[in-house]
Amino acid sequence: MTPVPADRLRVLVATSNRGKVGEIRALLAGLPAEICSLDGFPPIAFPQEGADYERNAVGKARAVAEQLGELALADDSGLEVAALAGAPGPFSARYGGPDLDDAARVDHLLRELAGVPAEQRDARFVCLAALVAPTGAVITVRGECNGRILTARRGVGGFGYDPVFQPDGYEQSMAELSAEQKNRVSHRGRAFRLLRERLLDRLDALA
Ligand code: IMP
Repeated sequence: MTPVPADRLRVLVATSNRGKVGEIRALLAGLPAEICSLDGFPPIAFPQEGADYERNAVGKARAVAEQLGELALADDSGLEVAALAGAPGPFSARYGGPDLDDAARVDHLLRELAGVPAEQRDARFVCLAALVAPTGAVITVRGECNGRILTARRGVGGFGYDPVFQPDGYEQSMAELSAEQKNRVSHRGRAFRLLRERLLDRLDALA
């Protein structure tokens, strides 16, 4: 592991998803903080995830902060569909059953919404990010992206439900946007821009 200069914080990202570490590193670029994955650290016992984004994100970050004694960052996100009473929400990754992949989950969502007219296809992405210090201090931020569920896939970018989600104010689906455009409008981009501001305010307290 590369040594961290004394004037920089080290923040461990509580995820096994390498793509997410890179995305978070880009969103927090310019902060005097080293954003690291858990690669090379001892395995962490994570709490089971439940129906609450904030509890899930704080639980993951706290597990790392307590077990490794380091500043830790985690996020939890999901898609909330109005016509499904807010489902799948925090269960978005397992929607339709644990064995489905992203493509099968999108198919399941389109089937569930078959026949639902355009004006009743409102949805939003939600992201909750939590930073937990070994002292127990917690910062949480929330980002949302409103839009609607399309009737068929469009575009090949992004991941998850991106091909069938059209953000408000855009003609394209999330999967038709560039990574920069998606970051500008997405729930995760919004949450991490807020986190960046909060971190800048509290760098001294966390160091
Ligand atoms: P996670 O909590 O960030 O791992 O997200 C949980 C699930 O929500 C993912 O497996 C996706 O199905 C969905 N999801 C979260 N963020 C996005 C996104 O930006 N685009 C599409 N799907 C997303």
